[in-house]
Amino acid sequence: MHHTEELFIIHYAEVGLKGKNRVFFEKRLAHNIKLALRDTGYTEVRRLHDRILVQLGPRAQLAEIKKRLCRVMGIAHFELACRTENHIAAIKETALQQTQGIEFETLKVETKRSDKTFPLTSPEISAEVGAYLIQETGARADMRHPELRCWIEITQNAAYIYTEKLQGLGGLPVGVSGKVLVLLSGGIDSPVAAWRMIKRGAKAVFIHFYSYPYTDKASLEKVMELTHILAESNYRSAVYLVPFAALQQAIVTGTPAPFRVLLYRRMMTRIAQRVATLVDAEALVTGESLAQVASQTLTNLRAIEAIAEIPILRPLIGDDKAEIVEKAQQIGTFEVSTLPHQDCCSLFVPKHPATRASLADLEKAEENLDIAALVEMAMDGLEKQIVTFSYFGHSLRRIENAV
Ligand code: ATP
Ligand code: MG
Repeated sequence: MHHTEELFIIHYAEVGLKGKNRVFFEKRLAHNIKLALRDTGYTEVRRLHDRILVQLGPRAQLAEIKKRLCRVMGIAHFELACRTENHIAAIKETALQQTQGIEFETLKVETKRSDKTFPLTSPEISAEVGAYLIQETGARADMRHPELRCWIEITQNAAYIYTEKLQGLGGLPVGVSGKVLVLLSGGIDSPVAAWRMIKRGAKAVFIHFYSYPYTDKASLEKVMELTHILAESNYRSAVYLVPFAALQQAIVTGTPAPFRVLLYRRMMTRIAQRVATLVDAEALVTGESLAQVASQTLTNLRAIEAIAEIPILRPLIGDDKAEIVEKAQQIGTFEVSTLPHQDCCSLFVPKHPATRASLADLEKAEENLDIAALVEMAMDGLEKQIVTFSYFGHSLRRIENAV
């Protein structure tokens, strides 16, 4: 009997990763995996060559670990493998053990060898282990469409054997791409936009503008709940809540009705920009999609953009609503997003808002507003909440202290 041990092997997409970048990337991925696997019974996460190994304790929850690894950004694929000594007898025996309990009539063995001192070449190992499995199980070899694949990886100190590859999300580990400030509204689109940026390795900080007491607190509760869901991939997440009612009041009394939404959005952008500086975010992110609503025509996007000093990223700009909805369902935000709430942007808004407001029109309308004072007022009312990552499901939590 040879000594064997179960563990997870995690592979990431390596394209373009070299030298220092690679170490930075791997360390961040390992760190995020530890966060994601809290309380699942793993004992150690360590980096080894091009992969990360998760060692398991005696009571490790394998199904739970699989579920969570499926949501960690930056993993290309992963497997639950068996480690054994790297000599051929141990490998054969372990491979046979790994096939126990699986029904198959055809099989293929594939070997990768990073230890070039191993006495057999990769094809020789595959052939020898394959012949042994065929002899012991009665299965046939099939190089093209095998029902069972058995992978063998040979390193200097050990051999790893597995029969199932699980697909990861891809992307990059959260934190390797800097920080962004996401304008999160409580609607369907902005959480999906956030998720896309998180997937590309950006750490998301959130900002939400609320109109309470003109509206109820539903948007606040929704935004906190959405942040809980996004924290499953973003981990510890900061949410900045900005009282917006007084600014809307000033816009409503001081400017022509058709421009209101755009003037709201320009005010939001100014304030978001200030918060971005505060938290060191290098870009703003919105859920805008081209021409989805009146405020999202090119002309109007340009009028909003004109205010910004840092890039406004719009990851959904080319997506159809149906595609965004599908994504929202996949990532688990759709249900919360579609709960009723009054959007602050729909407050005091005319039936036919301007679809082509010129910059000159907007700047003229803003002459009646004390922009600097309004921004200061919003900044004075700014509140910060921290959402810590947890896997306790997403029942709607009430937030008593949000306002
Ligand atoms: P969403 O589904 O994200 O609410 P939407 O289709 O309703 O988007 P708009 O209302 O025009 O579109 O808002 C466009 C974007 O502006 C939103 O995706 C979001 O990024 C930002 N935004 C709108 N309202 C708010 C708000 N109250 N707080 C923070 N950001 C907001
Ligand atoms: Mg909205």
